Amino acid sequence: MAEAIRIERDGDIAVIVIDNPPINAGSAEVRRGLLAAIETIGGDASIRGAVLIGAGKTFIAGSDLREFDRPLQEPQLPAVIAAIETCGKPVVAALHGAALGGGFELALGCDGRIALAGTVVGLPEVTLGIIPGAGGTQRLPRIVGIPAAIRMIASGERVPAAKALALDMVDAVVDGDLRPAAVAFARRLGHGKTRLRDCGVPVADDGEIAAASRDALKAGRNRPAVRAAVEAVGTAARLPIDEGLVRERAAFQDLRLSRDARALRHLFFAERESARHPDLAGAMRRTIERIGVIGAGTMGTGIAIAALDGGFQVVLVEADDAALERGARRIADHYASRVATGRLGEADAAGRRFRLTAGTDWAMLADVDLVIEAVFEDLAVKQEVFRRLDAVARPGAVLATNTSYLDVDAIAAATMRPQDVIGLHFFSPANAMRLVEVVRAAASAADALATGLAVSKRLGKLPILTGNAFGFIGNRIYAAYRRQCEFMIEEGAYPEQVDAVLESFGFAMGPFAVADLSGLDIAWRMRQARAATRDPQARYVTIPDRLCEVGRLGRKTGAGYYRYADGGKGRQPDPVVRDLIDRARAETGISPRSMDDDEIRRRALLAITNEAALLLAEGIALRAADVDLVLVNGYGFPRWEGGPVFLARESGQLALERDLDWLAGLSGPGFTRADPTPLLGHTPGRPVPSA
Ligand code: NAD
Repeated sequence: MAEAIRIERDGDIAVIVIDNPPINAGSAEVRRGLLAAIETIGGDASIRGAVLIGAGKTFIAGSDLREFDRPLQEPQLPAVIAAIETCGKPVVAALHGAALGGGFELALGCDGRIALAGTVVGLPEVTLGIIPGAGGTQRLPRIVGIPAAIRMIASGERVPAAKALALDMVDAVVDGDLRPAAVAFARRLGHGKTRLRDCGVPVADDGEIAAASRDALKAGRNRPAVRAAVEAVGTAARLPIDEGLVRERAAFQDLRLSRDARALRHLFFAERESARHPDLAGAMRRTIERIGVIGAGTMGTGIAIAALDGGFQVVLVEADDAALERGARRIADHYASRVATGRLGEADAAGRRFRLTAGTDWAMLADVDLVIEAVFEDLAVKQEVFRRLDAVARPGAVLATNTSYLDVDAIAAATMRPQDVIGLHFFSPANAMRLVEVVRAAASAADALATGLAVSKRLGKLPILTGNAFGFIGNRIYAAYRRQCEFMIEEGAYPEQVDAVLESFGFAMGPFAVADLSGLDIAWRMRQARAATRDPQARYVTIPDRLCEVGRLGRKTGAGYYRYADGGKGRQPDPVVRDLIDRARAETGISPRSMDDDEIRRRALLAITNEAALLLAEGIALRAADVDLVLVNGYGFPRWEGGPVFLARESGQLALERDLDWLAGLSGPGFTRADPTPLLGHTPGRPVPSA
């Protein structure tokens, strides 16, 4: 195997090359090599200074997280940085690609930093439930000051090179060749060391520090890593750097093994594993340059924006002139608002809008490579759309449906080319939400699916492959969760109590507030459509139907599970709803009992766990950890809890079996109690335990 670190020479400057593909992760081997290289340089009188540079596409993009569940190997990063600081010669970090986490801490330990345009730097450790552990919280404030360092470190901000330059986080940004520029810079520094540890912390106003801390804690939901980050940065102003470094390291070591950190690492590895599909491995990807979107409603416009942002040519087709106009205006307004708020340059926005063609003529779809249909959720309408598409789309185009619940096989059957048909289930708002379920129908060709996954990635999304079943992974689990919450209000809880418990668990919104937001009538119509096939023995909660029958369809009608003042905002519990629920209980013969918060939380989460196990057993979800990715990225499940599968693994099989029996007993007829075994497989990123 090639050495991870090698020293090259450019006259009197040594160039230390970090070569640990694919992302030059700061592994134990890299740290060992760096330490040895620094010692060599310190002892070689013919060397005046050094440059640290990454081979390939990036500087050190982060630490090797596989190490983090065990004791860290020597030498640890602080020792490498200390060696740079004491080697007596200037060391310049030459940054390209990403210099994040430990990579940027290493750069902060150098005497100068020079970045290629387009580089991203930062200390995103809190997004993994930890804080920088190699001086990031002590050195960054010496450049940007305490309030800005709190904002950056507590949010895990990734800072583009231009902003980093403006804040002095890098000394120069170059457009052309990074290495010679860095070598020249090292030579200019001569023999002098310009260590951040020797700099003072810029004085800041106490009020400003307090405000930055308060905002950071609020935005970071007061999680342990965010609290520790605020505390550690604050230390930089009060204590000598060596003391600050010791405290920072101790906090880092504690957090590394904390529950939040383990949960967030689980999601990190789950995401990496979710991209691997052994049965699609050999599949070719079709070339996609032009994307057609059918339907310019809520989803169609969001998908069109995502595709424009992804660099594609987009053809947007509508049935209705007025709807087309509304959709085109929504897209224009979207870009105007990004320009107005400084999130996008004017020329860039104009370029994106220029790639959009919109109209009502289906012939426009004749030469697109991928079509994503987002028309009304009605099988007959969708089948008609696919019949027309079959006639107009070029051979080999991938035909995708954004259906939420409909049978993708039935949609594909409307064409003569079911092998080209897949589901691409985006979430609303489609330009912002990361999750996409890529649905495999019975006839979907491997290359069509591989293309769907690849395009989703190009749109910056997290694609999860799922089988074709009512609601796929996410909506089916969500339905089971909501059903369990309805059971609870039938038995004795009220919507506001259930919502409060689940919001304090970490969901952005409780299930009844979500129902009011999306509108109760969609689910009502779906229940009516499925009434004939419903198991008459199964438990059925009538409360949602009763709300719809009295015109309480959610926020849009000013009332649903709650009453809404002020034009739809500001939910308030409503005595009318309590009466309606009390009546429903009485008519069903249920005597209400009081329910404690713990029962509510456990039942709601177990309902998710149970459905996840069923989906795995049916082969709809392919990997247990995929379920966690779906819930965290599409349904507001709190990221720091790791997802239902992570939670299930934490409780272990025995406890889970007992809990699911309990849930089944409370849920009554029609509830299918799952075997939890498929949830308890190995954790991605960790070695598979041997038998
Ligand atoms: P919408 O009502 O906002 O938009 C649908 C649009 O399709 C309308 O503008 C309509 O004029 C147009 N349309 C209808 N028939 C057409 C045809 N034959 N040809 C061209 N255009 C036609 O609906 P939406 O919320 O955007 O949902 C669209 C699809 O996305 C549905 O299948 C829905 O289940 C799915 N979906 C919606 C959400 C969501 O939160 N809204 C989330 C995920 C998936």
